[in-house]
Amino acid sequence: MQVVADIAAVRRAREVDLSATWGLVPTMGFLHEGHLNLVRQARRDNSRVGVSIFVNPAQFHNPDDLATYPRDPERDLALLKQEGVDLVWTPLPDQVYPAGYQTYIHVEEASRPLEGAARPGHFRGVATVVAKLMNVFQPQRVYFGQKDAQQVAVVKRMVEDLNFPLAVVSCPTVREADGLAMSSRNVLLSPQARPHAACLFRALQAGSDAFAQGEHQAKSLRDAMRTVIDATPMARIDYVSVAHPETLAELDVVAVAALLSLAVFVDEVRLIDNIIVGETACAETG
Ligand code: AMP
Repeated sequence: MQVVADIAAVRRAREVDLSATWGLVPTMGFLHEGHLNLVRQARRDNSRVGVSIFVNPAQFHNPDDLATYPRDPERDLALLKQEGVDLVWTPLPDQVYPAGYQTYIHVEEASRPLEGAARPGHFRGVATVVAKLMNVFQPQRVYFGQKDAQQVAVVKRMVEDLNFPLAVVSCPTVREADGLAMSSRNVLLSPQARPHAACLFRALQAGSDAFAQGEHQAKSLRDAMRTVIDATPMARIDYVSVAHPETLAELDVVAVAALLSLAVFVDEVRLIDNIIVGETACAETG
């Protein structure tokens, strides 16, 4: 496994075998089974796998959030080696955003609601760094988790709009035994708060159950989710949403399918989760 920091080294490694197919898994490190599941899917689909580890300052609008973001590069590299990864790119911030940097990508509509509304500038940072990673790596496929559903929607829109010649593969959310979606941020939960963090998945299940029982009014589905969070100690709703799975526009009535999503503070740690009702979640486009 080759580990490189600078862009020229990534390009050289990428050019060694031009007949290879490359899958790229962008991450911010502090890896868990959710990330490794993406790596394994990339391993199955491609002859070579690249992983980037970069805590992207441009997608954090809160400096404390950036400062406290968990990191463990040595453990990450050991895990990626076990998975048979070929190339790991671990750039420094000033290699990605050198002095004088001024080019950013703004995916307009898909970036606006939900996480975009709660975290101004977040998707501008995500779209920009993903475009740069794809431009340097030139992968045939790039892998994202459905856990960050809006990120998938933003990246798919950008790939289509800017004609990147690659496929975007989204993979299902990997969960802990109690349903909590795996996240690098879960380590920030105190032992007292951790059991309550399963409320996000329970809320999504309550919405999904209501939908399965024939409730298609979006307001009623939102209420079903809210009721679960409101009854959970240490939990505070940021938003609860029932939206179109691709445009992410809030729905009044769920006709075919919907993205149920929510952001909840559990003891001041902000967690997000989602599920799609009415259709399957794992898809490849491009
Ligand atoms: P991050 O390091 O948090 O930026 O995540 C890197 C990639 O892993 C993103 O595409 C995430 O959506 C994905 N990911 C993170 N957590 C999970 C999870 N629990 N299940 C599936 N994918 C995940």
